[in-house]
Amino acid sequence: MQITRLATPTHETVLRVHDANIGLTGFIAVHSTKLGPAAGGLRMRPYDSEDAALTDALRLSEGMTYKNAAAGLPLGGGKAVIMGNASQKSSSQLLTFARAINTLEGNYWTAEDMGMSPTDMSLLATETKFVAGLPNGPHASGDPSPITARGIFESIKVTAKHQFGSADLNGRTVAVQGLGHVGTYLCEFLHKAGAKLILADIDQKRVAELATQFDAKTATPDQILTVKADILAPCAIGAILNEDSIAKLNVGAVCGGANNQLATSEDGARLYARGILYAPDFVANAGGIINVATEVLAIKGRATYVDEKLSAVENTLDRIFSRAKTLDCSPADVAVAIVDEMLADQAA
Ligand code: NAD
Repeated sequence: MQITRLATPTHETVLRVHDANIGLTGFIAVHSTKLGPAAGGLRMRPYDSEDAALTDALRLSEGMTYKNAAAGLPLGGGKAVIMGNASQKSSSQLLTFARAINTLEGNYWTAEDMGMSPTDMSLLATETKFVAGLPNGPHASGDPSPITARGIFESIKVTAKHQFGSADLNGRTVAVQGLGHVGTYLCEFLHKAGAKLILADIDQKRVAELATQFDAKTATPDQILTVKADILAPCAIGAILNEDSIAKLNVGAVCGGANNQLATSEDGARLYARGILYAPDFVANAGGIINVATEVLAIKGRATYVDEKLSAVENTLDRIFSRAKTLDCSPADVAVAIVDEMLADQAA
């Protein structure tokens, strides 16, 4: 295995991990350890080039710094990627990668991301202790989706309070895009709170099942971004809020679980200009990383820790919306500024 340290002005440490004998090329990017060891998942997918894989690792690890800091976690931001088709990954690739993680001596903790399963995390754990998302063990944190959905549900209430003057969701219409792990749990919370649901997924069978379960209306994947509703909850894919889609939105607010909902950094301002209140995704969807953090930090009173951190997320979102109103600017920009201040305070 060859490990090459790459110099980048933006990140603390970036490693290129390569072993031609087993077809392994990947990157580990540690964006920041100012608040604690960097934590963020390991992703495996086919990339067009090494440049594309490196760019993804750099971008995602920076995103983790913001997400972890906004959630008030004593964790920095990191991410790792392996180039290749996840269905063809080998044990030797994972074990070699685990040894590369060990060279960072705990400055980077990995977990599941796209292309990885709890079983893969167990295999990594035979070679490195710097891994979370394990299916079992003393601190195993299990499926993060219910906690992620709970955090989004509470964030939707904060968003409704600021945009509509009441956090009560009884009778409010919420359009949910994506009925996977997070979307389904979110629908349960919303339905229980008396919200009316409009559901969409590319899986029509799933849409029909949940429409019956939650007495909901349905929309096609194309329609869901234009339906009339109080709140849009994106819980599928990233970059769905762009110049074109924002112009067609028919909602008062957006708050959901998908990562990287804004296609570009200008899209926060576009939503703001249209009077649509946007809950920054890396704040609202932090439940998942809070759950993983209990494992990384070996927290004993797990449920209490999760409750406290989720309620801190509500307070942070409340503060972001208030400051955005005072400054007359987009909550997305305020969220980034708040984390930048936290990191600067830490450095001082
Ligand atoms: P998932 O794969 O279980 O569900 C995604 C769902 O979206 C699937 O049902 C899929 O069919 C649907 N979908 C895909 N493209 C679509 C489209 N164009 N229109 C409508 N539906 C579409 O994933 P998940 O774990 O529920 O995560 C959802 C989002 O939340 C992702 O962006 C993920 O990165 C983010 N997220 C998840 C967690 C977590 O705890 N699982 C934590 C933080 C962020």
